[in-house]
Amino acid sequence: MREVRIKDSLTGRLQTIDPAEEVGIYVCGPTVYSRIHIGNARPFVVFSLLARFLRSEGFGVRLVVNVTDINDKIYVAAQDAGEPSAQFAARMTRAYFEDTDRLDLGRPDAEPLAGETIGAIVALIAALVESGHAYESGGDVYFRVRSFAAYGKLSNRKPQDMDQGEEAGSASLKEDPLDFALWKAHKVGEDTTWDSPWGAGRPGWHVECSAMAEAELGPSFAIHGGGSDLLFPHHENEIAQSEAAGRPFARTWMHNGMVEADAAKMSKSLGNIFQLSAALDRYGREAVLAFLISGHYRQPLAFGPQEMDQAVARVEGLRNFFRDHPLGVAGEVSPEQRREGLAATPPATRLEAFRQALAEDFNTPRALAQIFALISEANREEIVGAPEAVREMLELLGLGSVADPEESAGSDAEALLAEREKARAARDFERADAIRARLAEIGWDVRDSADGARLVPRG
Ligand SMILES: [Zn+2]
Repeated sequence: MREVRIKDSLTGRLQTIDPAEEVGIYVCGPTVYSRIHIGNARPFVVFSLLARFLRSEGFGVRLVVNVTDINDKIYVAAQDAGEPSAQFAARMTRAYFEDTDRLDLGRPDAEPLAGETIGAIVALIAALVESGHAYESGGDVYFRVRSFAAYGKLSNRKPQDMDQGEEAGSASLKEDPLDFALWKAHKVGEDTTWDSPWGAGRPGWHVECSAMAEAELGPSFAIHGGGSDLLFPHHENEIAQSEAAGRPFARTWMHNGMVEADAAKMSKSLGNIFQLSAALDRYGREAVLAFLISGHYRQPLAFGPQEMDQAVARVEGLRNFFRDHPLGVAGEVSPEQRREGLAATPPATRLEAFRQALAEDFNTPRALAQIFALISEANREEIVGAPEAVREMLELLGLGSVADPEESAGSDAEALLAEREKARAARDFERADAIRARLAEIGWDVRDSADGARLVPRG
């Protein structure tokens, strides 16, 4: 097992992950007020692949990604949809599971819902009231920010730069504008409510995560993850609540950068490709994954049709590599024999550098560079074990399917192409043409050649 280090947002230093303990990872998942977009998919992908990598190194891992199903935005969106909010949130939660299932990275070990953790949430708030870190006011409960001396340590903000972003109406109930809500009294128009020692109401967003993290991983755990937009106030407030209540909480904070879409670059004809399901329909899971791991997780990532076309071309390049360099027959050599035989050969050296790149702050672009370096070496001269090593690396990034180009119906477009081939073989040219037209609609041209038809993104 190699040393794995992650840059901690709190200290700015690389923190070694303790191999002696199960690596508990809590990630803030989506607030289900709409279908998720590709930006929401980034933490899902980054942390799913981090867990996969850690397991491959021999770490025990427990990955928890919550679903925020109680939130102001949900009440608003449910009203717009003319649907009870609980029903709306349940429907959007199912859509989130379906959309992320299509990434084919498996599910996290636990996916708690705020709505199913109310008991633990109320208990945490009660402990904070008991110890003087929180107070009841008009049926609401607020966290007393100035009672927690370390407040601001994660975001490094000064009090005058802190805006809790809470609705103006709650200001009058607060002792101090810095304070934030742990419990909100029931309001007219909200169709879900829970009982508490402070009356009927619902929890605030921040305390939901403090309680869910502890319920799933205990009072102290290895990594807390989420998007960098959550640093303040969400994660700052999670720290305040949990540490004020005497829990050590997360040992390392890991934030992914935002996916930035340039609206101007996205013409109407592309449809809403920023939505994950639409991007998957158009580009397929492999290109979506290839795009999401193309940059270092901490950096912002520009999203647009051009970037996605590059990802599609990358995936196609990988498939072509396996068309030209078929994998050896499985079972011929054991992995151990293969490793011994490959010691200090290019595949072994690249594999080692690949794993080392992931071990050092999960640097996926540097890891990908090893894959492409080995591919260009193997394209220059035959290298024993190269296709197998490339597949092993891709497998760790969720892209192992490209090693089987014929099976790799990674996108709906690929499945359609196969349908078209069948129609042509059966001399049903009308149907074949209809499928070609359908492919064009979703952004693909078909190129026919001697060795079969291929998809090319429409330029
Ligand atoms: Zn959260």
